[in-house]
Amino acid sequence: MSHPYFEYTDVDRAFFEERIDPWLPERIFDAHRHVRLPEHVDESQERFKRGTFPEGIAGPESIEEAREAYAVLFPDREVEMLAFGSPQSNCDCEASNAYVSETFAWNDDARTGVSVPRTEREDEHVRSKGRGGSVGLALSRPDWSVEKLAEELRRPAIIGVKPYERLIPDFQGGDVSIFEFLPHEHLELLHELGAWVTLHLPRKERLADRANIEEIIEIRARYPEVKLVIAHLGRSYAGRYAREGFPPLADDEGLLFDNSAVLNPAVHALALDRFGPERIMWASDQPVFYMRGRRRWEGDRYINLTSGDYEWNTDRQPPEVEATYTLSLYEAIAACLDTILALGFGDDEISAIFHGNARRQIDEVLARKERW
Ligand SMILES: [Zn+2]
Repeated sequence: MSHPYFEYTDVDRAFFEERIDPWLPERIFDAHRHVRLPEHVDESQERFKRGTFPEGIAGPESIEEAREAYAVLFPDREVEMLAFGSPQSNCDCEASNAYVSETFAWNDDARTGVSVPRTEREDEHVRSKGRGGSVGLALSRPDWSVEKLAEELRRPAIIGVKPYERLIPDFQGGDVSIFEFLPHEHLELLHELGAWVTLHLPRKERLADRANIEEIIEIRARYPEVKLVIAHLGRSYAGRYAREGFPPLADDEGLLFDNSAVLNPAVHALALDRFGPERIMWASDQPVFYMRGRRRWEGDRYINLTSGDYEWNTDRQPPEVEATYTLSLYEAIAACLDTILALGFGDDEISAIFHGNARRQIDEVLARKERW
């Protein structure tokens, strides 16, 4: 296999065999990953750039490449995904949504995850709606009309949206309200349909920002039918965001989280303790974590120790240390598994976090989609 962003090495194989393979369930569901083709981005348009991690790690990765990578990374596992485009400010959101929809609606029809026998007509219906298997979210622009958003949501295999602050017209960075990129009119429609929202929190203080907490609570109160998933455990990559942000959200049992991009074992532990294993879904945030290396924490900062030749990579270690780096994706999974086990949970909780929770929640939305 040749994949554009990683080569599988003996270090990776050994790490997988020792730290992941004994516990990883047969079926896994990646609840947050990006896919795109080169033509989904208009390179002639200036895009909003950060100049820091994760710049330069990976460009476009197609669904086919994603599947090939899963087959190498997770041998003998059946992997499904909730995928969406890459929300660069210069992306062609419609083309990206169409690509995700068309690929999943037709490729995954044989693996529906539904065991009851169906009539031919039901089968056709399920196929046209993309039920079971992998599904996608639509990238949404905040200036879209409600009609336009409804059209994007009606695409087969699309179960909701991935809004993003960078899709605010002329976004220049800085703190914005969630409602600036996920407007109330959109939320009203999403509530009416019972659609899925994976929410990347704005604001420098992330989940420790009281304004973010208030807005999440407001969304849950006003739009309770929305399947609301807070991405990256609220961007709690360092401990304080989790310590301050998790408690006020702990009692809302309907609020869900994906743990993508979290390598910090203490954050996984706090999430498991505050939210319980039923509200957390494992996710990769690929293609970013094809990056090789480890993460360290200093106060609110995280430091990516990586062997990658990226402009921002200034924390280099001796070559013999860097030679031991495996894929950050594996490090994130090992951190999650180790923590689940260290807290005394077992196979049931692992299987819920790595597959069952996402599958169950997504199937609920797919059942509603039949009337969209
Ligand atoms: Zn992401």
